[in-house]
This record gives sequence, structure tokens and C-alpha cells, in this order.
Amino acid sequence: MKYKSCHLIEHGISINVDSIQACCLSREFDKGMLPITDKYENSSINWDELFEIKKRHRKHQKIQDLKFCEGCYNLREEDWDEEDYISFINFDHWSHCNSNCIYCGVQKNKPRQKNNVLNSIKELIQQGKFKNTGEITFQGGEPTILKEFEDLLKLFIKAGSKVRIHSSGIKFSRAIREGIKKGAVTVVISPDAADCKTYKAIKRVDKFNNVWANIKHYRRWLPKETAPLVKVKYIIIPGINDSFEDITNFLNKIKKLDIKSIVTDVEYTYANQNINNISPHIYMLMDYMENFAKENQISYELYDSAKYAEQNRHIEKTLKDHLNSEYIEKIRKLNQDKNINYSNF
Ligand code: SF4
Repeated sequence: MKYKSCHLIEHGISINVDSIQACCLSREFDKGMLPITDKYENSSINWDELFEIKKRHRKHQKIQDLKFCEGCYNLREEDWDEEDYISFINFDHWSHCNSNCIYCGVQKNKPRQKNNVLNSIKELIQQGKFKNTGEITFQGGEPTILKEFEDLLKLFIKAGSKVRIHSSGIKFSRAIREGIKKGAVTVVISPDAADCKTYKAIKRVDKFNNVWANIKHYRRWLPKETAPLVKVKYIIIPGINDSFEDITNFLNKIKKLDIKSIVTDVEYTYANQNINNISPHIYMLMDYMENFAKENQISYELYDSAKYAEQNRHIEKTLKDHLNSEYIEKIRKLNQDKNINYSNF
């Protein structure tokens, strides 16, 4: 049956420290995230109960958008299947990190690693309720220092899944290196700076050289065709790393290390508070990065806040164009009524 939904309402979960949600999307308006259960305790996920809740979400979505999902760019009308399985999993169930980013939304006062989810995930796979058609993401906390990280990663690589890992890049991981060599893993590292001083101001740790050395090290293992599996991210933070010089230095570094994929985002709190009033300067920086990527055959991707900002710019432009064309049409009509011949202009 055709109805409006998204791949995460249908087959996704985001496992947090004390709850499970359908997704982890940071929305531009404060609607929270679509909850599945807040009774996630003792490291055990009740899959039967979870699929029942997903069925209810699906049923609701057939009638009208769930309130958490209204206006989301992921919603689309499609002939969704009705099967119970999970194919998108986001791991967010710990908060321990080796960086201390000023924009980090992870509550560091929450338990560092309350739950081990490995057994539950094994159970899901054994029950035949996991399909490798989606994507597995590690958000965190820092995955490379999560105790069960390597076991989880091996499990998903064995299951033939695509895995995306967000890492601070401070610790080099052999498991990630093996994953990218096999073409199963994408690693996203966000240094947000091309100089030590700016890096330290953002990350509040002194690891600038480690991070860029590890980016170089991961990239070294990849042939040209799979080079985009190492993604380097730049979160634009107004007033901190948002000069043209900052961005130019970053892009020069990207070129020098032969990085083939960049990701841009806009700092979440700024974007959230200014979604209808994003500075033209920020848009210029985004365009600058996009053009650089195009010219240098580098893949270019936007993350959530930047996606919303871009969506908003598009809406504003469409509205302006529409108003302009209406206005021009009105003037034309007025002048025509006055018998002004336009061919004379
Ligand atoms: S908020 Fe968006 S991405 Fe998340 S479940 Fe709803 S529609 Fe999907």
C-alpha cells in the first residue's frame, strides 16, 4: 500500500543510553524524536514488543504524519513493505569520548556505558529479523573506545552490512581500517579545523596532529575507487571557524591528503535558533565548499542542520521568485493597460 513514511519509521532503530527511538535526527524545530521504548533496561531488547510498536507507528502514518515526523525531509510516498525486520541501526548507547567538543550534545553526565547491546543484536540476527539492506551507524560517544565496538563491527561486516562510523579520529582503529579495506565501512572524522589553535578551541583537547595523521593513515589503505569511504567533516561554527581563510586552509589540506569526500554541517544550536535567519555568509561558505568539491571531483555531502538550512534557503528563494514574478506580472499588466509598448524597452 502506498503511503507517506520513511525508512526509519519502517525499519530503523536508534539505541540510546536509556531509550530506543526510530531515528536520531536533530530537527530544526523542537519536536523531540520518535520514541519506540523508554523501558530499555538490563541490556535486553524485547524485539517482539518493539515490532508491535513499529506496527502501530506504521498504522498511524497511513492516516496522518506522526507528530514527531511532521515536515521531515525523509518522508516520502512509497509502496512500503509490511514485513517486520530491522535494517537501519544507530548506536548511541554510550557517551564516553576522548574529545570534548564545544558543540557536543551527548550528555556526558549520563552513564558511560550502561548497556551492552551485543547479545540483543545477536538475537535479532539469529531470529532472522535483520536485513543488511540498510545502514548501521555508530554515533556515540567515541566508537573506538567502546568495549563491544569491534565485536559489533565484526558481526555486521559478516552480515554483509554497510557501516558508517563517526569517530573523533584521535585513536586509530585497526577494525575500522580492515572494514574500509573490505569496502564495508565508511569512517567520518570531523576535525573542523586546519590549524592547531582552532582545533583546540573547538575540541578542548590537544590532538590536532593525531587526528590529521590518522585521517591520512586511513586514506592510505584505500584505492582511488573506494577513497570516498574516508569522509572528512567540517562543522561550521559561527565566530570560531567560519572565515574564508579557515575554510580555504581546510580545503587545501583535503586536497593535499587526496581526500575524496567531504561533509559539511552547521553547528546545531546556531542552526536550530536561526533556521529562518541563517547568515548569508554561512551559505556562501557552503557554496564555496560545494564548488571546490565539484572542481576537484570530491564527493560532497550535507549533514542534518546544513540540510535543513539548505532546504530553508530553497524555500525562501522559491517564495521570493514567486513574489517577484507576481509583482513583475502586475506591473506589466498595469503598464499594458496604459498602452506602454514593451518592445520599446
Ligand atoms: S523524524 Fe524523520 S527520519 Fe526520523 S523517523 Fe520521523 S520521518 Fe523518519
